[in-house]
Amino acid sequence: MVLLDKNGIRCDGRKIDEPRKIMIKAGVLKNANGSAYIEFGDNKIMCGVYGPRDVHPKHMANSSTGILRCRYHMVPYSVSERKNPAPSRREIEISKVIKEALEPAVMLERFPRTAVDVFIEVLQADGGSRCAALDAASVALADAGIPMRDMVSACAAGKVADTVVLDVNNEEDQAGQADMPIGYMPNLEKVTLLQLDGIMSPKEYKECIETGIKGCKIVYEIQKKALNERYFGDDHK
Ligand code: ADP
Repeated sequence: MVLLDKNGIRCDGRKIDEPRKIMIKAGVLKNANGSAYIEFGDNKIMCGVYGPRDVHPKHMANSSTGILRCRYHMVPYSVSERKNPAPSRREIEISKVIKEALEPAVMLERFPRTAVDVFIEVLQADGGSRCAALDAASVALADAGIPMRDMVSACAAGKVADTVVLDVNNEEDQAGQADMPIGYMPNLEKVTLLQLDGIMSPKEYKECIETGIKGCKIVYEIQKKALNERYFGDDHK
């Protein structure tokens, strides 16, 4: 497979600095306090948020702050070979990094002794699902009316055919050289998630962070649009 042709076009027809098509809809679930659905390329992810609410088991409660709990889960039909529905090491890791990426944004200190629960179901995965899940979770938290310092917007950059590209898809992730998911608070200009799978030079590393942050800023506009559409209707499209 040609990952990048001589005209700088990638295997799915995108340019090197072009993200996949992103669609976010806020407030899609009736029973959760907040929710969001995202399509990020072929990733399809649903997120529901509950809270702030009582903590069970009670010994997990913290008298000086609220706690954030996060579950990232892939449904069995989310990948081409049936995925075992039991939580894998990868899902436990992604749940942890998403929680840690959201924590700086959520004003948990306002709700001592309570928990905010974020449930993420990946219905279809196509590379970059942790970033897409983080994008949906951030919108779902805002939809639940939970006070936040900023949104968290996420997008990966990576290295494919010796070139830094924005938003690595599944084929590029498997056959490419590096993948760097980034979570970013666009107004505070702070990175809350940074992972790197692969090898790159210091110059490429810097370029990758800059490229990823540009992607996060694109995502941020789509997150705002989703929340505006939810609360103010079509006028804010
Ligand atoms: P991310 O989805 O955040 O890029 P990874 O880099 O770990 O996370 O995974 C890349 C992609 O590999 C996933 O988006 C998914 O398409 C695929 N994948 C992950 N787990 C499985 C699995 N158990 N079976 C098949 N494909 C998987």
